[in-house]
Amino acid sequence: MVLLCNTSSHSLDSLCIHQSYLLLVFCFFRLITHTCRLCFAIPPVFRGSVFVTMLPEIDFISGTWLSFINNSGLSDRMIFVLGNTAIVYLLFWPINILLYFSYQYDFPGKKRFLIQPGLKPDPELVKKNIKENIVSHIFVVPLLSAGIYDIFVYFGMKMRQPLPSMPIILRDLAVAIFFADLLGYWLHRILHHKSIYKYVHKKHHEYKVNVGVASIYAHPVEEFFTNIVAVFGNMIMGSHVLVLWLWLSIRLVEAIFSHSGYHFLPYSLSFPFTGGDFHEYHHTHNVGNFGQFFTFWDWFHGTDKPYYEFLQSDKYCYYKETEKAVNKKVE
Ligand SMILES: [Zn+2]
Ligand SMILES: [Zn+2]
Repeated sequence: MVLLCNTSSHSLDSLCIHQSYLLLVFCFFRLITHTCRLCFAIPPVFRGSVFVTMLPEIDFISGTWLSFINNSGLSDRMIFVLGNTAIVYLLFWPINILLYFSYQYDFPGKKRFLIQPGLKPDPELVKKNIKENIVSHIFVVPLLSAGIYDIFVYFGMKMRQPLPSMPIILRDLAVAIFFADLLGYWLHRILHHKSIYKYVHKKHHEYKVNVGVASIYAHPVEEFFTNIVAVFGNMIMGSHVLVLWLWLSIRLVEAIFSHSGYHFLPYSLSFPFTGGDFHEYHHTHNVGNFGQFFTFWDWFHGTDKPYYEFLQSDKYCYYKETEKAVNKKVE
């Protein structure tokens, strides 16, 4: 197919559609390898600085994107739908397949960091969850994306423009995180109200021992509002679509890790983020810890008190048991 292209031109603008698709895939893998290399190379607390090191990548990503979108022949709505769907396919399934190998075969040797070692969720529940996820990813994600596209356009989403400068990207990310965190906290807290809980949120709480796929196991009503809340900040800021997808990727990965059942992973987020242990407590005890990204709102409203009291009590075994296992292995 590539042979049909006019390969004499090296300008990004004049690349044919097949070349621009290949360049887009190359760009994606370059970004992933760049991020992985840095995340492994630097201490967790400095991993946020990965954005700064990506400064020289912005022009390359921007040029690749413009080349792709101008040559794709696809409508903006279709690109929006395909992009949202691709994020789910490229992140949700590969990460969960890796987690599956980790649960089953202790690869790559992280099983000792399980929060509830020795406990597994009901296999029938996991099967039902995976089936629903497949249906959701084939039908719900594309249809929902197509439906909300016009709202994003109304607020001025940029699609055929170059990427904005790094300060604008960081500003939009900060606004997206703020609203996802604030609205996510209150949505979750409202879903726990006794008049709503049993009709909607109870489904997500069928998991008492979490695994990665549980991250998006929810009633359709909850799924809808959770998705809207997650992208609300980008929507009102009229963010560039690539910034929206960057944030969606971060949000999805964070949701998977906080449901992974692990309190430690190479990319694990922990305080001040709602890591695995914080959210596992919410599933096991069904009280407090409503935060969706940061622990701030739980601290602010005091809804994390039962969790921290639990940490002090004799009942607490999450870390104690797993740390014992870790120390045994190290000795
Ligand atoms: Zn809940
Ligand atoms: Zn959950």
